[in-house]
Amino acid sequence: MTPESVYLPFNRDVLGEAFVPAKHGGALPERQGHWVIVQDQGLIVSTDHHELALPCGECPAGLEGLSAPLWLGTLRGTPCWVSSLPREGKVPAGLHRETLVPMQGTRLPDDLLSLGGMAMQALWWESTSGHCPRCGERAERIANEWGKRCPRCKYEHYPHLHPAVITLVHDGDRVLLARKSIWAPGRYALIAGFVDNGECLEGAVRREVKEEVGIEVKNIRYVGSQNWPFPSQLMVGFVAEYAGGKVTIDPDELEDARWFPRDGLPNGPSRHSIAGFIIEHYARQR
Ligand SMILES: [Zn+2]
Repeated sequence: MTPESVYLPFNRDVLGEAFVPAKHGGALPERQGHWVIVQDQGLIVSTDHHELALPCGECPAGLEGLSAPLWLGTLRGTPCWVSSLPREGKVPAGLHRETLVPMQGTRLPDDLLSLGGMAMQALWWESTSGHCPRCGERAERIANEWGKRCPRCKYEHYPHLHPAVITLVHDGDRVLLARKSIWAPGRYALIAGFVDNGECLEGAVRREVKEEVGIEVKNIRYVGSQNWPFPSQLMVGFVAEYAGGKVTIDPDELEDARWFPRDGLPNGPSRHSIAGFIIEHYARQR
């Protein structure tokens, strides 16, 4: 199976044509519409209805210390405004903070996870791009862009997305999973890591697998990708075949790694993650 693009929350594709991303710097729409308000790693949602929904209309009252709203884009013709609420800020009655983190059991529907993920990344970019990384001068927004320009040295930079590879290694009827000591007991996951300078994606897969579990892989195949806003990764998913070597963990990275039979995997990862997608489509079935 080689999907056009995998259906996963945090990928903008989930919203389809309903969402049109903003171009900054031009004439802003009126400051009302959908409010995508992030507090820590949670999204502020309305609890007035049976379903979790974004506050809509004027900026919701009773939220103290909101950051200046950013225009994220337009959802079904209605502007979406992003703002952050300080960690200690109170959430008034009628609103509720719901986690955006899949591993914390989020109840948010996929469209709100995708909007919330974009909001988190926009806010992360705003919080880290205020000054020129080269000379330290206060940076200015480039018209019609998210990018920033330094008025002194003219350095320009744009929102940073960090590519990381995540790989299922298989060998006949068994698959390799690993765990870190900080994870909940019994939880195992795929091998993952960031792409280094000078590396291609397949090279990163080979290196990460070799470094973390000491084995060689072959037949590396791309299977899909997911935008992951914690804070700004692009997770690129692969499957690879075992090609040799003995499983030997890097104790700085992992607590354990072992082969599991395809019909006896230890835990189901979140359906919201590319890891869950890969295991569902490539580990449980041949
Ligand atoms: Zn500069």
